[in-house]
Amino acid sequence: MEKKGNDAPAIGIDLGTTYSCVAVWKHDRVEIIPNDQGNRTTPSYVAFVDDERLIGDAAKNQVAMNPANTIFDAKRLIGRRFSDSNVQQDMKLWPFKVIRGHTDTPKIVVSYKGQEKEFLAEEISAMVLGKMKETAEAYLGKAVKNAVITVPAYFNDSQRQATKDAGTIAGLNVVRMINEPTAAAIAYGLDNESEIVGRLNVLVFYLGGGTFDVSVMTIEEGGVYEVKAVAGDTHLGGEDFDNRIVDHCVSEFKKKSNKDLSGNQRAMGRLRFACEKAKRTLSCTTRTSIDLDGLHEAVDFSLKLTRAKFEELNMRSFNKCIRIVEKSCLNDANMKKSCVDQVILVGGSTRIPKVQHMLQEFFDGKDLCKSVNPDEAVAYGAAVMAAKVSGCSDKSVQDMLLCDVTPLSLGVEVEGQVLSVVIPRNTPIPTSNAKTYVTTSDNQYAVSVNVYQGERSRSTDNHFLGKFRISGIPPALKGFSEVMKCFEIDADGILTVTAVIVSTGKMKKLVISNESGRLSKEEIEKMVNDAERYKLEDLAFEKKAKAYNDLDDCLYKMKYKMKEYNIRTSVHPAILKEMEKAIAETTKWLEDNQTASFSELHLKKVHLEFVCKLLL
Ligand code: AMP
Repeated sequence: MEKKGNDAPAIGIDLGTTYSCVAVWKHDRVEIIPNDQGNRTTPSYVAFVDDERLIGDAAKNQVAMNPANTIFDAKRLIGRRFSDSNVQQDMKLWPFKVIRGHTDTPKIVVSYKGQEKEFLAEEISAMVLGKMKETAEAYLGKAVKNAVITVPAYFNDSQRQATKDAGTIAGLNVVRMINEPTAAAIAYGLDNESEIVGRLNVLVFYLGGGTFDVSVMTIEEGGVYEVKAVAGDTHLGGEDFDNRIVDHCVSEFKKKSNKDLSGNQRAMGRLRFACEKAKRTLSCTTRTSIDLDGLHEAVDFSLKLTRAKFEELNMRSFNKCIRIVEKSCLNDANMKKSCVDQVILVGGSTRIPKVQHMLQEFFDGKDLCKSVNPDEAVAYGAAVMAAKVSGCSDKSVQDMLLCDVTPLSLGVEVEGQVLSVVIPRNTPIPTSNAKTYVTTSDNQYAVSVNVYQGERSRSTDNHFLGKFRISGIPPALKGFSEVMKCFEIDADGILTVTAVIVSTGKMKKLVISNESGRLSKEEIEKMVNDAERYKLEDLAFEKKAKAYNDLDDCLYKMKYKMKEYNIRTSVHPAILKEMEKAIAETTKWLEDNQTASFSELHLKKVHLEFVCKLLL
């Protein structure tokens, strides 16, 4: 593809746990961009196969063959610590290896080009984002730079920062990050523009592959979207439902054969794939079966699974979703359920009939809105936002106004390990607030500012974001010197903290320390270069594979041509012999040189074509 200039429009990317989707505003509407396989969503999978890297469909399709080197679920790792209980839990079911990196950062270990390589979740996500960028570039015929990326509303600051870093590593300029339910609401709002009169209270219920979000918001005529409250669980989604079926199958297999298959990565990979398929089937039928020949130690596996059993296995998660809708979201938004005008379903897992029934029952039989495409609505909304940020002249896009909130409270640790909240959860963003704290000892020279995010009173029970020290407080008695701590959240939901010694005006900004797991500028730069290098390696591999196929193809055609009557009768026998020799030699050479370089393959083809030009 020829890349002309850098004037492509900004794109919208839904970076999902299991699938990603890219869209763009074109010809006065949003277009969902199909990938090279013609699919409108792309699996968020990256695989390392001998000396080739695969991303998307190609990676997912070979997962059963290569489970240890096929990475998925990077979104479940991004911005989290290795010691996070969710990471520890997930690791038991992942067929790939995750180790504790420097400062408790999880690192994914794969074998690539005969070596062990370690990747951060940001790098794997960057590879998926890079694929979405390429998909858009192929479609638009231009280089794409600017993008709006969506994140779960309930993502904390570390997870948001890490996602933004992934965008940078992929070579994107992340112009905005918006919350997934908000993006879906934009899709709904634009689709129903003419029907929205006055103000509409909507509840967006987003249940995707790995995360659950619920947002209560109002949509006003004219395109004003105001989020009232968000709640959710960044570790609840379709993958968990798959895992429950996998667990069930493992224990059934054990019951029947007295064998434990959980340590067999290949078998687990095959089982996981089959379970996800069975789960999808159960959304439209009431029974299905999972049949896998020679699953483990040559023992076949066959299990009948009913929808009722699937629901029983996942009832706790389903109940949790409803509890979050009621206890966290509607209460925080101060809205009675009877005041909700529209319940919008988004995310592939909202296709599960039980989830729909329970939600409908909770809303006293109200019809649920299924008009937005659950797989594409988020990318759709992101593309609208991308068009707005890049100055699209469409009136509906330009008039659109978005007011989101911060999902979790932010604060600093004070004496006794108590969290002093500076910005409470569900505060509209962008926002800023400052609180002043006094010194706690005589002649105190410095204070530590430890920043946390969460709702627990004990600071350490919350998510630690980072810390820094400010020194140079003039000598004074305890309680007499003041340090002001200012919190600022931008439109992407990202936090900056500044501390100021009130008497001197000395100021220090939060440079998130390594302990928080945040990448430094230098580390990002290195990863940007690595990503570029991997991309070049992929291109070189593709070029070489093409040269191999071209030569193989050329040999095949020549062998066929040599059998033709008019060639055998009209060409001089000496030339025929020479051509036969060249074909035989090249065939042998190709068999013996499977790893030949592009130029070797190319030269062989040029030589063959020269000797056998009569066959062309
Ligand atoms: P998303 O993150 O929105 O792409 O959702 C992907 C999740 O939705 C995956 O866990 C899929 O297995 C799940 N999913 C997609 N279609 C269905 C379906 N028909 N029934 C149940 N789950 C589904």
